[in-house]
Amino acid sequence: MKAHDGMYIDGAWRPAAGRDTIAVVNPADEQVIAAVPAGGAEDVDAAVRAARAALPAWAATAPAERAARIAALRDVLVARRDEIAGTVTAELGAPLPFSQAVHAGVPILVAGSYAELAASYAFEEKVGNSTVYAEPVGVVGAITPWNYPLHQIVAKVAPALAAGCTIVLKPAEDTPLTAQLFAEAVHEAGVPAGVFNLVTGLGPVAGQALAEHEGVDLVSFTGSTAVGRRIGATAGAAVKRVALELGGKSANVILPSADLARAVGVGVANVMGNSGQTCSAWTRMLVHTSQYDEAVALAAEAAAKYGDRIGPLVNAKQHARVRGYIEKGVAQGARLVAGGPEAPREQGYFVSPTVFADVTPEMTIAQEEIFGPVVSLIRYEDEDDALRIANGTVYGLAGAVWAGDEAEAVAFARRMDTGQVDINGGRFNPLAPFGGYKQSGVGRELGSHGLAEYLQTKSLQF
Ligand code: NAD
Repeated sequence: MKAHDGMYIDGAWRPAAGRDTIAVVNPADEQVIAAVPAGGAEDVDAAVRAARAALPAWAATAPAERAARIAALRDVLVARRDEIAGTVTAELGAPLPFSQAVHAGVPILVAGSYAELAASYAFEEKVGNSTVYAEPVGVVGAITPWNYPLHQIVAKVAPALAAGCTIVLKPAEDTPLTAQLFAEAVHEAGVPAGVFNLVTGLGPVAGQALAEHEGVDLVSFTGSTAVGRRIGATAGAAVKRVALELGGKSANVILPSADLARAVGVGVANVMGNSGQTCSAWTRMLVHTSQYDEAVALAAEAAAKYGDRIGPLVNAKQHARVRGYIEKGVAQGARLVAGGPEAPREQGYFVSPTVFADVTPEMTIAQEEIFGPVVSLIRYEDEDDALRIANGTVYGLAGAVWAGDEAEAVAFARRMDTGQVDINGGRFNPLAPFGGYKQSGVGRELGSHGLAEYLQTKSLQF
Protein backbone atom coordinates (compact mmCIF):
# COMPACT_ATOMS: atom_id res chain seq x y z
CA MET A 1 0.00 0.00 0.00
CA LYS A 2 1.01 3.58 -0.53
CA ALA A 3 2.75 5.12 2.49
CA HIS A 4 4.66 8.35 3.11
CA ASP A 5 8.10 7.86 4.58
CA GLY A 6 8.02 11.18 6.42
CA MET A 7 6.01 13.30 8.84
CA TYR A 8 3.50 15.92 7.73
CA ILE A 9 4.85 19.02 9.46
CA ASP A 10 4.34 22.69 8.57
CA GLY A 11 2.48 21.90 5.39
CA ALA A 12 4.89 19.37 3.84
CA TRP A 13 6.11 15.78 4.18
CA ARG A 14 9.49 15.94 5.92
CA PRO A 15 11.97 13.19 6.74
CA ALA A 16 11.81 11.83 10.28
CA ALA A 17 14.68 12.59 12.64
CA GLY A 18 15.47 8.89 13.13
CA ARG A 19 15.43 5.77 10.97
CA ASP A 20 13.07 3.55 12.96
CA THR A 21 9.92 2.35 11.23
CA ILE A 22 6.63 0.70 12.13
CA ALA A 23 5.41 -2.21 9.99
CA VAL A 24 1.73 -2.04 9.06
CA VAL A 25 0.09 -5.48 8.99
CA ASN A 26 -3.15 -6.56 7.31
CA PRO A 27 -4.92 -8.47 10.11
CA ALA A 28 -6.96 -10.54 7.67
CA ASP A 29 -3.89 -12.30 6.22
CA GLU A 30 -1.05 -11.23 8.55
CA GLN A 31 0.96 -9.76 5.64
CA VAL A 32 3.05 -6.60 6.03
CA ILE A 33 1.53 -4.04 3.68
CA ALA A 34 3.59 -0.92 4.38
CA ALA A 35 5.97 0.78 6.76
CA VAL A 36 5.80 4.29 8.25
CA PRO A 37 8.39 6.20 10.26
CA ALA A 38 8.41 5.73 14.03
CA GLY A 39 8.82 9.31 15.18
CA GLY A 40 10.43 10.40 18.43
CA ALA A 41 10.72 13.44 20.66
CA GLU A 42 12.59 15.43 18.00
CA ASP A 43 9.81 14.98 15.44
CA VAL A 44 7.16 15.84 18.04
CA ASP A 45 9.07 18.96 18.97
CA ALA A 46 9.30 20.09 15.32
CA ALA A 47 5.54 19.50 14.90
CA VAL A 48 4.64 21.39 18.09
CA ARG A 49 6.83 24.32 17.05
CA ALA A 50 5.08 24.44 13.67
CA ALA A 51 1.68 24.33 15.36
CA ARG A 52 2.65 27.10 17.80
CA ALA A 53 3.98 29.30 15.00
CA ALA A 54 0.76 28.86 13.00
CA LEU A 55 -1.51 29.53 15.98
CA PRO A 56 -1.81 33.34 16.05
CA ALA A 57 -2.86 33.66 12.39
CA TRP A 58 -5.26 30.69 12.48
CA ALA A 59 -6.81 31.79 15.79
CA ALA A 60 -7.46 35.23 14.25
CA THR A 61 -9.10 33.80 11.11
CA ALA A 62 -12.78 34.66 10.74
CA PRO A 63 -15.03 31.71 11.71
CA ALA A 64 -16.52 31.77 8.20
CA GLU A 65 -13.09 31.10 6.71
CA ARG A 66 -12.44 28.26 9.16
CA ALA A 67 -15.87 26.88 8.23
CA ALA A 68 -14.92 27.02 4.54
CA ARG A 69 -11.71 25.04 5.14
CA ILE A 70 -13.58 22.37 7.13
CA ALA A 71 -16.24 22.15 4.41
CA ALA A 72 -13.44 21.72 1.84
CA LEU A 73 -11.95 18.98 4.03
CA ARG A 74 -15.34 17.26 4.16
CA ASP A 75 -15.51 17.45 0.35
CA VAL A 76 -12.09 15.80 -0.01
CA LEU A 77 -13.20 13.02 2.35
CA VAL A 78 -16.25 12.53 0.13
CA ALA A 79 -14.14 12.47 -3.05
CA ARG A 80 -11.67 9.98 -1.56
CA ARG A 81 -14.24 7.83 0.21
CA ASP A 82 -13.38 4.58 -1.62
CA GLU A 83 -9.67 5.04 -0.98
CA ILE A 84 -10.32 5.70 2.71
CA ALA A 85 -12.54 2.63 3.05
CA GLY A 86 -9.96 0.46 1.27
CA THR A 87 -7.17 1.71 3.50
CA VAL A 88 -9.15 1.12 6.72
CA THR A 89 -10.02 -2.38 5.53
CA ALA A 90 -6.37 -3.10 4.73
CA GLU A 91 -4.93 -2.01 8.08
CA LEU A 92 -7.83 -2.56 10.52
CA GLY A 93 -9.47 -5.55 8.82
CA ALA A 94 -13.06 -4.28 8.85
CA PRO A 95 -15.19 -5.75 6.03
CA LEU A 96 -15.34 -3.31 3.09
CA PRO A 97 -19.09 -2.50 3.32
CA PHE A 98 -18.62 -1.54 7.00
CA SER A 99 -15.57 0.56 6.12
CA GLN A 100 -17.56 2.31 3.40
CA ALA A 101 -20.61 3.01 5.52
CA VAL A 102 -19.09 3.66 8.93
CA HIS A 103 -15.32 4.21 8.83
CA ALA A 104 -15.51 6.50 5.79
CA GLY A 105 -19.12 7.65 6.13
CA VAL A 106 -19.26 8.88 9.74
CA PRO A 107 -16.21 11.21 9.47
CA ILE A 108 -17.90 12.90 6.50
CA LEU A 109 -20.96 13.59 8.67
CA VAL A 110 -18.85 14.83 11.57
CA ALA A 111 -16.68 17.08 9.38
CA GLY A 112 -19.86 18.48 7.81
CA SER A 113 -21.35 19.16 11.22
CA TYR A 114 -18.29 21.19 12.24
CA ALA A 115 -18.27 23.15 8.99
CA GLU A 116 -21.78 24.28 9.97
CA LEU A 117 -20.98 24.82 13.63
CA ALA A 118 -17.88 26.91 12.90
CA ALA A 119 -20.08 29.24 10.85
CA SER A 120 -22.98 29.43 13.31
CA TYR A 121 -21.43 29.11 16.79
CA ALA A 122 -21.72 32.12 19.13
CA PHE A 123 -18.03 32.83 19.77
CA GLU A 124 -19.12 36.00 21.59
CA GLU A 125 -22.00 36.61 23.99
CA LYS A 126 -23.29 39.37 26.28
CA VAL A 127 -23.71 38.49 29.96
CA GLY A 128 -24.99 41.52 31.91
CA ASN A 129 -22.33 44.20 31.65
CA SER A 130 -19.79 41.77 30.17
CA THR A 131 -18.90 40.48 26.75
CA VAL A 132 -17.66 36.90 26.90
CA TYR A 133 -15.40 35.70 24.11
CA ALA A 134 -14.83 32.02 23.36
CA GLU A 135 -11.19 31.82 22.31
CA PRO A 136 -9.16 28.83 21.08
CA VAL A 137 -7.34 26.87 23.77
CA GLY A 138 -4.14 26.90 21.68
CA VAL A 139 -2.02 23.99 20.47
CA VAL A 140 -3.77 20.62 20.73
CA GLY A 141 -1.92 17.33 21.13
CA ALA A 142 -4.31 14.68 19.77
CA ILE A 143 -3.63 11.00 20.47
CA THR A 144 -5.99 8.51 18.83
CA PRO A 145 -6.63 4.74 18.81
CA TRP A 146 -7.03 2.31 15.92
CA ASN A 147 -10.59 1.03 16.31
CA TYR A 148 -12.33 3.85 14.40
CA PRO A 149 -9.13 5.28 12.93
CA LEU A 150 -10.56 8.13 10.87
CA HIS A 151 -13.58 8.94 13.00
CA GLN A 152 -11.47 9.47 16.09
CA ILE A 153 -9.10 11.77 14.21
CA VAL A 154 -11.93 13.83 12.71
CA ALA A 155 -13.78 14.00 16.05
CA LYS A 156 -10.76 15.89 17.41
CA VAL A 157 -9.33 17.75 14.43
CA ALA A 158 -12.60 19.16 13.03
CA PRO A 159 -13.72 20.88 16.29
CA ALA A 160 -10.14 22.01 16.98
CA LEU A 161 -10.00 23.66 13.54
CA ALA A 162 -13.44 25.18 14.10
CA ALA A 163 -12.31 26.64 17.42
CA GLY A 164 -9.17 28.20 15.89
CA CYS A 165 -6.71 25.77 17.49
CA THR A 166 -3.69 24.21 15.77
CA ILE A 167 -2.98 20.52 16.09
CA VAL A 168 -0.34 17.82 16.34
CA LEU A 169 -1.78 14.34 15.80
CA LYS A 170 -0.18 11.10 16.97
CA PRO A 171 -2.35 8.28 15.56
CA ALA A 172 -2.35 4.64 16.65
CA GLU A 173 0.58 2.56 15.44
CA ASP A 174 -1.75 -0.09 13.92
CA THR A 175 -3.54 2.34 11.59
CA PRO A 176 -1.10 5.06 10.46
CA LEU A 177 -2.02 4.83 6.76
CA THR A 178 -5.51 6.20 7.37
CA ALA A 179 -3.91 9.07 9.30
CA GLN A 180 -1.54 9.80 6.41
CA LEU A 181 -4.50 9.86 4.02
CA PHE A 182 -6.22 12.32 6.35
CA ALA A 183 -3.12 14.57 6.32
CA GLU A 184 -3.26 14.55 2.51
CA ALA A 185 -6.92 15.55 2.70
CA VAL A 186 -6.14 18.44 5.06
CA HIS A 187 -3.47 19.60 2.62
CA GLU A 188 -5.82 19.37 -0.36
CA ALA A 189 -8.46 21.32 1.56
CA GLY A 190 -6.12 24.30 1.75
CA VAL A 191 -5.67 24.38 5.51
CA PRO A 192 -2.67 26.69 6.08
CA ALA A 193 0.77 25.19 6.78
CA GLY A 194 1.40 24.34 10.44
CA VAL A 195 -2.27 24.31 11.45
CA PHE A 196 -2.40 20.50 11.26
CA ASN A 197 0.67 18.29 11.76
CA LEU A 198 1.08 14.52 11.84
CA VAL A 199 3.71 12.50 13.69
CA THR A 200 3.48 8.71 13.40
CA GLY A 201 5.15 6.70 16.12
CA LEU A 202 4.87 4.44 19.13
CA GLY A 203 2.65 5.42 22.06
CA PRO A 204 5.25 5.29 24.84
CA VAL A 205 7.72 7.25 22.63
CA ALA A 206 5.99 9.77 20.32
CA GLY A 207 2.68 9.74 22.22
CA GLN A 208 4.34 10.33 25.55
CA ALA A 209 6.58 13.08 24.11
CA LEU A 210 3.48 14.84 22.79
CA ALA A 211 1.53 14.49 26.05
CA GLU A 212 4.50 15.88 28.01
CA HIS A 213 5.46 18.68 25.60
CA GLU A 214 5.25 22.07 27.28
CA GLY A 215 4.21 23.69 24.00
CA VAL A 216 0.92 21.75 24.03
CA ASP A 217 -2.03 23.48 25.73
CA LEU A 218 -4.60 20.68 25.57
CA VAL A 219 -4.08 16.93 25.32
CA SER A 220 -7.06 15.19 23.76
CA PHE A 221 -6.71 11.45 24.14
CA THR A 222 -8.86 8.52 23.07
CA GLY A 223 -7.74 5.07 24.08
CA SER A 224 -7.45 2.73 27.02
CA THR A 225 -8.20 3.76 30.59
CA ALA A 226 -4.70 2.62 31.64
CA VAL A 227 -2.93 5.06 29.29
CA GLY A 228 -5.57 7.76 29.85
CA ARG A 229 -4.91 7.70 33.58
CA ARG A 230 -1.19 8.39 32.96
CA ILE A 231 -1.90 11.14 30.47
CA GLY A 232 -4.36 12.74 32.90
CA ALA A 233 -1.74 12.67 35.66
CA THR A 234 0.92 14.22 33.40
CA ALA A 235 -1.47 16.95 32.27
CA GLY A 236 -2.58 17.59 35.85
CA ALA A 237 0.99 18.06 37.03
CA ALA A 238 1.53 20.63 34.26
CA VAL A 239 -1.87 22.31 34.90
CA LYS A 240 -2.73 21.58 31.30
CA ARG A 241 -6.18 20.89 29.95
CA VAL A 242 -6.99 17.31 29.10
CA ALA A 243 -9.86 15.43 27.47
CA LEU A 244 -10.05 11.66 27.89
CA GLU A 245 -12.28 9.30 25.93
CA LEU A 246 -11.62 5.90 27.48
CA GLY A 247 -13.00 2.40 27.74
CA GLY A 248 -16.51 1.10 28.31
CA LYS A 249 -18.56 -1.90 29.41
CA SER A 250 -22.01 -0.79 28.38
CA ALA A 251 -25.28 -2.43 29.38
CA ASN A 252 -28.10 -3.28 27.00
CA VAL A 253 -31.11 -3.37 29.30
CA ILE A 254 -34.12 -5.21 27.91
CA LEU A 255 -37.20 -4.49 30.06
CA PRO A 256 -39.96 -7.15 30.06
CA SER A 257 -42.31 -5.00 27.94
CA ALA A 258 -39.79 -4.71 25.08
CA ASP A 259 -39.86 -6.38 21.68
CA LEU A 260 -37.45 -9.11 22.79
CA ALA A 261 -36.45 -10.44 19.38
CA ARG A 262 -35.61 -6.98 18.06
CA ALA A 263 -33.75 -5.94 21.21
CA VAL A 264 -31.63 -9.09 21.18
CA GLY A 265 -31.00 -8.97 17.43
CA VAL A 266 -29.94 -5.31 17.41
CA GLY A 267 -27.97 -5.90 20.62
CA VAL A 268 -25.91 -8.74 19.14
CA ALA A 269 -25.30 -6.78 15.92
CA ASN A 270 -24.17 -3.78 17.99
CA VAL A 271 -21.40 -5.87 19.54
CA MET A 272 -20.36 -7.77 16.39
CA GLY A 273 -19.99 -4.64 14.24
CA ASN A 274 -16.28 -3.75 13.94
CA SER A 275 -15.56 -7.20 15.46
CA GLY A 276 -16.49 -5.96 18.92
CA GLN A 277 -13.78 -3.29 18.85
CA THR A 278 -16.12 -0.47 19.80
CA CYS A 279 -15.68 1.36 23.09
CA SER A 280 -19.43 2.01 23.37
CA ALA A 281 -20.52 -1.57 22.44
CA TRP A 282 -23.32 -3.02 24.58
CA THR A 283 -21.34 -6.03 25.70
CA ARG A 284 -23.59 -6.87 28.68
CA MET A 285 -27.14 -7.85 27.74
CA LEU A 286 -29.46 -7.66 30.76
CA VAL A 287 -32.60 -9.78 30.47
CA HIS A 288 -35.47 -10.39 32.92
CA THR A 289 -35.42 -13.86 34.40
CA SER A 290 -38.82 -14.71 32.83
CA GLN A 291 -37.44 -14.11 29.30
CA TYR A 292 -33.88 -15.25 29.86
CA ASP A 293 -33.92 -18.63 28.12
CA GLU A 294 -35.68 -17.22 25.08
CA ALA A 295 -33.15 -14.36 24.87
CA VAL A 296 -30.24 -16.82 25.08
CA ALA A 297 -31.63 -18.84 22.17
CA LEU A 298 -32.23 -15.69 20.10
CA ALA A 299 -28.73 -14.35 20.81
CA ALA A 300 -27.05 -17.65 19.93
CA GLU A 301 -28.99 -17.74 16.66
CA ALA A 302 -28.13 -14.12 15.83
CA ALA A 303 -24.41 -14.72 16.50
CA ALA A 304 -24.37 -17.90 14.41
CA LYS A 305 -25.99 -16.02 11.52
CA TYR A 306 -23.28 -13.39 11.76
CA GLY A 307 -20.75 -16.15 11.11
CA ASP A 308 -18.31 -15.30 8.38
CA ARG A 309 -19.35 -11.68 7.95
CA ILE A 310 -17.18 -10.66 10.87
CA GLY A 311 -13.73 -9.15 10.27
CA PRO A 312 -10.55 -10.05 12.16
CA LEU A 313 -9.29 -8.32 15.29
CA VAL A 314 -6.66 -5.66 14.69
CA ASN A 315 -3.49 -7.52 15.73
CA ALA A 316 -2.01 -10.65 17.25
CA LYS A 317 -1.96 -9.16 20.75
CA GLN A 318 -5.69 -8.33 20.72
CA HIS A 319 -6.37 -11.77 19.23
CA ALA A 320 -4.61 -13.48 22.14
CA ARG A 321 -6.18 -11.13 24.67
CA VAL A 322 -9.78 -11.65 23.52
CA ARG A 323 -9.39 -15.42 23.32
CA GLY A 324 -7.91 -15.31 26.83
CA TYR A 325 -11.05 -13.53 28.07
CA ILE A 326 -13.25 -16.19 26.45
CA GLU A 327 -11.25 -18.92 28.19
CA LYS A 328 -11.58 -17.04 31.46
CA GLY A 329 -15.35 -16.81 31.02
CA VAL A 330 -15.53 -20.59 30.62
CA ALA A 331 -13.22 -21.12 33.59
CA GLN A 332 -15.38 -18.89 35.80
CA GLY A 333 -18.50 -20.90 34.97
CA ALA A 334 -20.21 -18.96 32.17
CA ARG A 335 -21.90 -21.12 29.49
CA LEU A 336 -20.80 -20.75 25.86
CA VAL A 337 -23.82 -20.82 23.53
CA ALA A 338 -22.09 -19.51 20.38
CA GLY A 339 -18.46 -19.14 19.28
CA GLY A 340 -15.58 -19.87 21.61
CA PRO A 341 -11.83 -19.36 22.02
CA GLU A 342 -10.73 -21.48 19.02
CA ALA A 343 -9.49 -19.45 16.04
CA PRO A 344 -11.99 -20.11 13.22
CA ARG A 345 -9.39 -19.70 10.45
CA GLU A 346 -5.74 -20.63 10.11
CA GLN A 347 -4.69 -17.23 8.91
CA GLY A 348 -5.74 -13.83 10.20
CA TYR A 349 -6.71 -12.66 13.68
CA PHE A 350 -10.29 -13.94 13.57
CA VAL A 351 -12.52 -14.74 16.56
CA SER A 352 -15.98 -16.29 16.11
CA PRO A 353 -19.01 -14.26 17.22
CA THR A 354 -19.31 -15.45 20.81
CA VAL A 355 -22.26 -15.48 23.21
CA PHE A 356 -22.07 -16.36 26.89
CA ALA A 357 -25.09 -17.29 29.02
CA ASP A 358 -25.24 -17.68 32.82
CA VAL A 359 -22.92 -14.72 33.28
CA THR A 360 -23.02 -13.17 36.75
CA PRO A 361 -22.27 -9.48 37.26
CA GLU A 362 -19.02 -10.02 39.15
CA MET A 363 -17.36 -12.31 36.55
CA THR A 364 -14.30 -10.89 34.79
CA ILE A 365 -16.07 -11.01 31.41
CA ALA A 366 -18.87 -8.86 32.88
CA GLN A 367 -16.50 -6.32 34.43
CA GLU A 368 -13.55 -5.81 32.08
CA GLU A 369 -13.53 -4.45 28.56
CA ILE A 370 -12.89 -7.39 26.20
CA PHE A 371 -12.77 -5.43 22.92
CA GLY A 372 -13.83 -8.41 20.86
CA PRO A 373 -17.03 -10.00 19.48
CA VAL A 374 -18.28 -11.30 22.82
CA VAL A 375 -21.74 -10.72 24.36
CA SER A 376 -22.60 -11.71 27.92
CA LEU A 377 -26.22 -12.37 28.89
CA ILE A 378 -26.94 -11.51 32.50
CA ARG A 379 -30.19 -12.33 34.29
CA TYR A 380 -32.02 -9.78 36.50
CA GLU A 381 -34.95 -10.19 38.89
CA ASP A 382 -36.55 -6.73 38.83
CA GLU A 383 -35.83 -3.16 37.68
CA ASP A 384 -33.77 -2.21 40.72
CA ASP A 385 -31.68 -5.31 40.22
CA ALA A 386 -31.19 -4.40 36.55
CA LEU A 387 -30.12 -0.88 37.49
CA ARG A 388 -27.66 -2.14 40.09
CA ILE A 389 -26.09 -4.50 37.52
CA ALA A 390 -26.10 -1.86 34.75
CA ASN A 391 -24.32 0.65 37.00
CA GLY A 392 -22.06 -1.95 38.61
CA THR A 393 -18.80 -1.41 36.70
CA VAL A 394 -16.12 1.28 36.82
CA TYR A 395 -17.21 2.41 33.34
CA GLY A 396 -20.08 4.60 32.13
CA LEU A 397 -19.72 5.31 28.42
CA ALA A 398 -22.93 4.17 26.73
CA GLY A 399 -25.88 1.81 26.95
CA ALA A 400 -29.28 0.90 25.61
CA VAL A 401 -32.76 0.51 27.07
CA TRP A 402 -35.65 -1.29 25.39
CA ALA A 403 -39.28 -1.12 26.58
CA GLY A 404 -42.77 -1.26 25.10
CA ASP A 405 -43.30 2.31 26.13
CA GLU A 406 -40.69 5.00 25.39
CA ALA A 407 -41.39 6.84 28.66
CA GLU A 408 -40.66 3.67 30.63
CA ALA A 409 -37.32 3.30 28.84
CA VAL A 410 -36.46 6.97 29.40
CA ALA A 411 -37.22 6.71 33.13
CA PHE A 412 -34.78 3.81 33.39
CA ALA A 413 -32.14 5.50 31.23
CA ARG A 414 -32.22 8.59 33.45
CA ARG A 415 -31.09 6.42 36.38
CA MET A 416 -28.11 4.95 34.52
CA ASP A 417 -24.61 6.29 35.26
CA THR A 418 -23.57 6.63 31.66
CA GLY A 419 -23.03 9.28 29.00
CA GLN A 420 -25.12 8.00 26.06
CA VAL A 421 -28.18 5.76 25.98
CA ASP A 422 -30.01 4.55 22.87
CA ILE A 423 -33.75 4.19 23.47
CA ASN A 424 -35.40 1.33 21.56
CA GLY A 425 -32.59 1.31 19.00
CA GLY A 426 -32.24 5.10 18.58
CA ARG A 427 -29.99 6.18 15.70
CA PHE A 428 -26.44 7.58 15.99
CA ASN A 429 -26.53 11.36 16.13
CA PRO A 430 -23.29 13.13 15.13
CA LEU A 431 -24.40 16.27 17.00
CA ALA A 432 -25.07 14.58 20.36
CA PRO A 433 -22.32 14.81 23.01
CA PHE A 434 -20.31 11.60 23.30
CA GLY A 435 -18.23 10.81 26.37
CA GLY A 436 -18.08 8.99 29.62
CA TYR A 437 -19.26 9.02 33.21
CA LYS A 438 -16.92 7.53 35.82
CA GLN A 439 -13.71 5.94 34.45
CA SER A 440 -14.92 6.15 30.86
CA GLY A 441 -13.45 9.59 30.63
CA VAL A 442 -13.41 13.33 31.05
CA GLY A 443 -14.96 15.70 28.53
CA ARG A 444 -17.22 15.29 25.51
CA GLU A 445 -16.76 14.95 21.77
CA LEU A 446 -19.07 15.80 18.83
CA GLY A 447 -21.46 18.66 18.26
CA SER A 448 -21.30 21.96 20.13
CA HIS A 449 -20.24 20.19 23.35
CA GLY A 450 -17.23 18.82 21.49
CA LEU A 451 -16.40 22.26 20.14
CA ALA A 452 -16.53 23.77 23.65
CA GLU A 453 -13.66 21.45 24.69
CA TYR A 454 -11.34 23.43 22.39
CA LEU A 455 -12.42 26.86 23.65
CA GLN A 456 -11.60 28.93 26.70
CA THR A 457 -13.50 32.01 27.79
CA LYS A 458 -12.41 35.57 28.31
CA SER A 459 -14.83 38.12 29.76
CA LEU A 460 -14.57 41.87 29.34
CA GLN A 461 -16.58 44.08 31.72
CA PHE A 462 -18.04 47.40 30.65
P1 NAD B 1 -4.13 2.59 23.84
O1 NAD B 1 -4.44 3.38 25.04
O2 NAD B 1 -3.11 1.53 23.95
O3 NAD B 1 -3.64 3.52 22.66
C1 NAD B 1 -4.32 4.68 22.27
C2 NAD B 1 -3.34 5.69 21.75
O4 NAD B 1 -2.45 6.08 22.80
C3 NAD B 1 -2.43 5.17 20.62
O5 NAD B 1 -2.17 6.20 19.70
C4 NAD B 1 -1.16 4.82 21.36
O6 NAD B 1 -0.02 4.86 20.56
C5 NAD B 1 -1.12 5.92 22.41
N1 NAD B 1 -0.31 5.61 23.59
C6 NAD B 1 -0.03 4.38 24.13
N2 NAD B 1 0.75 4.53 25.21
C7 NAD B 1 0.96 5.85 25.38
C8 NAD B 1 1.68 6.62 26.33
N3 NAD B 1 2.36 6.06 27.34
N4 NAD B 1 1.67 7.97 26.21
C9 NAD B 1 0.99 8.56 25.21
N5 NAD B 1 0.30 7.88 24.28
C10 NAD B 1 0.29 6.54 24.35
O7 NAD B 1 -5.51 2.05 23.35
P2 NAD B 1 -5.83 1.17 22.07
O8 NAD B 1 -5.53 -0.24 22.38
O9 NAD B 1 -5.17 1.78 20.89
O10 NAD B 1 -7.41 1.42 21.93
C11 NAD B 1 -8.35 0.65 22.57
C12 NAD B 1 -8.93 1.38 23.77
O11 NAD B 1 -9.44 2.66 23.41
C13 NAD B 1 -10.10 0.66 24.37
O12 NAD B 1 -9.98 0.62 25.76
C14 NAD B 1 -11.30 1.51 23.95
O13 NAD B 1 -12.41 1.41 24.75
C15 NAD B 1 -10.73 2.86 23.97
N6 NAD B 1 -11.54 3.73 23.12
C16 NAD B 1 -12.33 4.69 23.70
C17 NAD B 1 -13.13 5.51 22.92
C18 NAD B 1 -14.01 6.56 23.51
O14 NAD B 1 -14.44 7.43 22.80
N7 NAD B 1 -14.29 6.54 24.78
C19 NAD B 1 -13.11 5.37 21.55
C20 NAD B 1 -12.29 4.38 21.00
C21 NAD B 1 -11.50 3.58 21.80
